[in-house]
Amino acid sequence: MMATATPLTATDSIIELEDEWGAHNYHPLDLVVAHARGAWVTDVEGNRYLDCLSAYSAVNQGHCHPRLLATFVEQASRVTLTSRAFRNEQLGAFCEELATLCGMEMVLPMNTGAEAVETAIKAARRWGYTKKGIAEGRAQIIVFENNFHGRTTTIVGFSSEPAYKKHFGPFAPGFTMVPFGDIEAVRAAMTDDTCAVLFEPIQCEAGVLMPPDGFLRQLADLCHEQNVLMIADEIQTGLGRTGKLFACDHDGVTPDMYILGKALSGGFYPVSAVVSRRDVLDVFGPGSHGSTYGGNPLGCAVAREALRVTQDENLVERSAELGAWLLAQVRTIRDDRIAAVRGRGLMVAIELREPARKYCEALKGRGMLCKETHDFVIRLSPPLVVSQDDLAWAVDQLRAVFASV
Ligand code: PLP
Repeated sequence: MMATATPLTATDSIIELEDEWGAHNYHPLDLVVAHARGAWVTDVEGNRYLDCLSAYSAVNQGHCHPRLLATFVEQASRVTLTSRAFRNEQLGAFCEELATLCGMEMVLPMNTGAEAVETAIKAARRWGYTKKGIAEGRAQIIVFENNFHGRTTTIVGFSSEPAYKKHFGPFAPGFTMVPFGDIEAVRAAMTDDTCAVLFEPIQCEAGVLMPPDGFLRQLADLCHEQNVLMIADEIQTGLGRTGKLFACDHDGVTPDMYILGKALSGGFYPVSAVVSRRDVLDVFGPGSHGSTYGGNPLGCAVAREALRVTQDENLVERSAELGAWLLAQVRTIRDDRIAAVRGRGLMVAIELREPARKYCEALKGRGMLCKETHDFVIRLSPPLVVSQDDLAWAVDQLRAVFASV
């Protein structure tokens, strides 16, 4: 008898299409999301999953937040893009509201996180030449081992991760790398040509690595003393993810520049921004920097609403309370394969002594979506609107997976 071929499921055929026609620059879990609301997503087969990744913290406000959806539709039906050749009704208000929230004076909007990092690098260098008096072409920026700031050629050029940079060179000069959390190494690397230190207050992509206590305070003092800009990349940690508005707030530190993205627009539209003082961002004049979509009315309207939702729904406080509870619960799971559990707010990491992928696959099978980060870490970063019941359920799934895998 001839064997009959098993018919492809909807999931299989969609994956096949993507794999055939799309470049393979990711290694996703094999489910195809069709709908999402709040902390939950549903795949094309009708299976429901608790989202414990939140699109790398972009959907802090929860998937398809109704207020963001309404704002998005309303603005999209009027005007979406003017370019900065003309002005729009949303940009000024967005800049004022974001700068005020950050305790800063000016905003430069972009689209993706990497573009905002590039913008911060440009601002810092220009500030170095025009305000600090560094000789043209000599400005240096100090960065940290295990950093993740995005994927442009300049940014991957100062990464310590071979997979991010292999065969993408030649890379831009002007960056000095030191170990994360080592204040003496930062001090030793600083010269009169140093214009900035660029850092993540928690290195999320590297596996949720925290600096030693007091490091950010020491870094702030050192930068201040040496007239060096302290640039906090809070693209992933900012806007409540770690239980404070900014992760720098845990150390009572205000940087010279925040770089924001992801949750700034609640998953609807790419909006990023550099937020800083006037004496830093006034280095840009007409023609010195730009982006066709940067500061567009649709993005600005959505971002304004995303910030209001973050405040109105007390998402920062929720993250602190639910995160502390989740961390405590996860710490009760006893298993020799767990090397460490750490976290701040709703950014919790379970570091394993072996690759985390098979645990993420097993969790997916139980309706819980996590993605391994840096091979050995399971990161739990659900939308900040997640309920405590959902988190209790998630802990049960973790327990079950450690009991069965
Ligand atoms: N910086 C940090 C800290 C990030 O976590 C990311 C993305 O994960 C980026 C920059 C890059 O953002 P995007 O992917 O929007 O370019």
